[in-house]
Amino acid sequence: MKVKKGKASKIGPSKKPLKHNAPKIFKTKKQKGKKRSKKSSQAPVVKSVVPVEASGRVNEILSHIHQLKPVRPVAQAAAAPSSPSAPSPSPAAAPPPLKKPRAERQAFLPPPVPEDAGDGGDADGAPEPQTAARGKKKRRKMKLAKRKLRREELLAAAETPGAKLESARFRYLNEQLYTRTGFEALKMFSRDRESFDAYHQGFRNQVAKWPVNPLDLIIKNVNKMPPSHLVVDLGCGDARLATSVRQRVLSYDLVATNERVTACDMAHLPLEDGAANVAVLCLALMGTNLVDFVMETNRILKMGGQLRIAEVASRFDSVDDFVKSLQAYGFHFISQDLSHKYFYMFSLKKVANVDRKRRKELPEITLKPCLYKRR
Ligand code: SAH
Repeated sequence: MKVKKGKASKIGPSKKPLKHNAPKIFKTKKQKGKKRSKKSSQAPVVKSVVPVEASGRVNEILSHIHQLKPVRPVAQAAAAPSSPSAPSPSPAAAPPPLKKPRAERQAFLPPPVPEDAGDGGDADGAPEPQTAARGKKKRRKMKLAKRKLRREELLAAAETPGAKLESARFRYLNEQLYTRTGFEALKMFSRDRESFDAYHQGFRNQVAKWPVNPLDLIIKNVNKMPPSHLVVDLGCGDARLATSVRQRVLSYDLVATNERVTACDMAHLPLEDGAANVAVLCLALMGTNLVDFVMETNRILKMGGQLRIAEVASRFDSVDDFVKSLQAYGFHFISQDLSHKYFYMFSLKKVANVDRKRRKELPEITLKPCLYKRR
């Protein structure tokens, strides 16, 4: 089984393939019509990770948030002549614009604030009537300014030498996982346990920047299933699923980061045939032998057992092909959720056993490796 070579995918929005008609089982907050609770209008705390020059810019943005004034573009702030009569937010101290971030760092950041986000309103200082429409506009401006601030904080943090080194190491280890078999990855991490911790720290940092973590959706979904179900978490990381659902969960990963995890290659699980009611593969279809992972998942699931998969959106050339190939491995498609920016989710159930001897007749399962650009 090969992972398709060629242009490596980046984590980030990808062209979404056509949706199936089947109903979604994973719903976004948006889909449920829930509103996000309004954030406090208090200024966000400026974190210490922001370098001095960036914090000047941060403070400028914060002062604009308080005054409900539009934020001037950085270049404009730096160019503005200082008036002796009104020496407000010291233009001389305005920081230079932050270095344009690299695409791979940007992929996880909140979307950029539109160019016109700070335009209009009370630039001339004239008092405005507090109409509902204006109030709404100002709230939106505040929201955009806060989002811009958060983005600048993240960019500034990513620019520190330590962060760059960590990120380079994470990229390297991530690449190893996508370009080796599970068995090779197991050997690699068994020899160097510390690099597994470094990989996971990088993984957590990345996913923390996503608006939604797919594991949270899986947790919600699994919690709706009968408490007697046995759940198997394949490529479990730190086994958060096991501590977040009411069912019993068996957690497997290449390295056991805590006592809940059993170290193994998920192509060879220490489980009997048909042992589990539910199998979860959350961002874990790494390695060049995806077919082995899927066949093993089929083996350990009961007939009618549920399979939940979450994968990085940009890894898919064709969602339909992916689903079709899973069907050839004894899984019936139930539903999919392609509404998230960074990942897709699939819900399937086992309807047939797959004979390993037939492996050669079965289709490849291909997903692009999720690699990052080199510097
Ligand atoms: N499911 C977790 C962690 C995802 S990171 C979460 O969503 O938070 C992907 C995990 O899959 C990594 O911990 C990696 O070690 C694991 N993994 C990749 N290939 C594996 C294999 N062949 N066998 C077991 N675990 C594997």
